[in-house]
Amino acid sequence: MSTAIQFKQPEKTNLLGLNRQEMEAFFTAIGEKAFRASQVMKWIHQLNVSDFAAMSNVSKSLQQQLADIAIIQPLDVMVDQLSSDGTRKWVLRLTDGNCIETVFIPDDERGTLCISSQVGCALDCSFCSTARQGFSRNLSTAEILSQVWQATRLLNEEKRPGRVITNVVFMGMGEPLLNYDNVVKSIDILLDDFAYGLSKRRVTVSTAGVIPAMDRLSERVDVQLAISLHATDDVLRDELVPVNKKYPLKDLVAACHRFMEKRSPRSRLTIEYVMLAGVNDTAQHADALIQLLDGLSVMINLIPFNPFENSGYSTSSNNAVHRFQDKLMQAGMITVIRKTRGEDIDAACGQLVGKVADKSRRQQKFINPRFGMHS
Ligand code: SAH
Repeated sequence: MSTAIQFKQPEKTNLLGLNRQEMEAFFTAIGEKAFRASQVMKWIHQLNVSDFAAMSNVSKSLQQQLADIAIIQPLDVMVDQLSSDGTRKWVLRLTDGNCIETVFIPDDERGTLCISSQVGCALDCSFCSTARQGFSRNLSTAEILSQVWQATRLLNEEKRPGRVITNVVFMGMGEPLLNYDNVVKSIDILLDDFAYGLSKRRVTVSTAGVIPAMDRLSERVDVQLAISLHATDDVLRDELVPVNKKYPLKDLVAACHRFMEKRSPRSRLTIEYVMLAGVNDTAQHADALIQLLDGLSVMINLIPFNPFENSGYSTSSNNAVHRFQDKLMQAGMITVIRKTRGEDIDAACGQLVGKVADKSRRQQKFINPRFGMHS
């Protein structure tokens, strides 16, 4: 029997996913000065360059060396859609064939990019269609950053005002705090002045309440945190957000206080509260919410439930949402009702990934990932 000799090509490092520290380590390992890191990061993230030959302040020989051992490889854009309200949505394809969605939501001075951190989700929230898909895998740092890189490039190409990413929210598919390392490294790059240079107030991690990771996050980076609360008692929250069985409300609220102690006194915690008709939207629920959040500096986001097939829930009426908001405001809590955007391109509910996945995996039962793609 003849044994074929196999030469495994060493895998090239994808520089798209390296934070400053890793980029400096990469350059020092090849005998270069650490300052190359900021130079190259600028090319990649600020000038959207993916070809080493275009890096004019890098010598020809280093360009060649980089091309031999490294790559700048974003995910491919599979679908690109523009809504009549200016919302733009992309479906990006991972090398394993899975798809993720990214949405740009312009609003007055703000341009928010909503990004995914995982393929699917393991948390099984009862009102969320991503849960129906189950969990596939974590996104790498490069895959997370690809969403920002491609969005920046494609928005630049539009050459029209108001198409700049000013805010990034981890509110797409997945639970960011269960992909802690890659999410945190992505945040490093989002905040780095040689990359996207976003202010820490403009990057938001949204979590269903993974307490140990909330504590670690507050030690590691200074960013906005949003808590998907949705209920004010453990019985209901166990049902809506099952991770509550592991991290119940009392502990979650204590963790919120700890988190806020680490932040500047002026900052606010975002509380997300999905409005489900007859489930969590009565005056009593509003009172309980006021009590639960007493002493915390918060901004409450009421999210109209985004229905999907067989969800078993319906959206609270406008009246119910406004009554709920009024009650919270009377108690002195800043409360906004989230507008649903990009409905004509299914940007609010992840339908497009559902359709694409449907074609390739017809036999699967659940193919309707949901995204929290609201402004
Ligand atoms: N796993 C993270 C981020 C994911 S989704 C988290 O739980 O926070 C971002 C937001 O969209 C969350 O507040 C989530 O609860 C909410 N959401 C999920 N499904 C929804 C639906 N069908 N309608 C409205 N909001 C939804």
